[in-house]
Amino acid sequence: MMDPGSDTFITVSDVMEYLFCPRFIYFMYCLMIPQHEERHYKVLKGRELHAAREKVNRNYIRKKLQCERKEIAVYLVSRRYHVKGEVDEVLFLSDGTAAPMDYKFAEYRDTIFRTHKYQSALYGLMIADCYDIAVKRGFVCYTRSNHLVKEVPLGDKDFERAISIVDNVLTIIQKGFFPAPTRYKARCIDCAYRNICV
Ligand code: SF4
Repeated sequence: MMDPGSDTFITVSDVMEYLFCPRFIYFMYCLMIPQHEERHYKVLKGRELHAAREKVNRNYIRKKLQCERKEIAVYLVSRRYHVKGEVDEVLFLSDGTAAPMDYKFAEYRDTIFRTHKYQSALYGLMIADCYDIAVKRGFVCYTRSNHLVKEVPLGDKDFERAISIVDNVLTIIQKGFFPAPTRYKARCIDCAYRNICV
């Protein structure tokens, strides 16, 4: 369990790195060896994000997602969960709940990626904590699939899983715990840490 009095905060990007390979966190934070590499996922920033936002139909967001108002580029800091990070949008829905909206430079491939789901759950947790509001779903916009917006249902199990992933990342950083390698061996081939890891 995380130490609630600790001042250690991790970012949503750290969690994404952890999901790619838990050992990244150990090498980055315990041995202080930077990756010197592109991240393993593309983050839409500035103009790209603005352009993507313009392409999503506003009426669709208002009517289909029942969105009454939204805040954009919200930097969230959750003291409770020890996580911080910027979410592309927070949607406030007509049922009184809120939902994160995340723009991905990716195609939709018939299923929500595990990483996208946990990222949505993590933003959802932070929104619930920071705004003191219920979160029951998130949305992901796939900019390379004609800006298709998919709903990610979020329940207790998803939030519990997100909390346990955060706990795992904090345990590596705070206790210097050396985690198991990724199960996907193909990821080791081009890895910056390959020489010191395997
Ligand atoms: S070599 Fe493989 S297990 Fe080690 S850090 Fe890289 S991806 Fe992870």
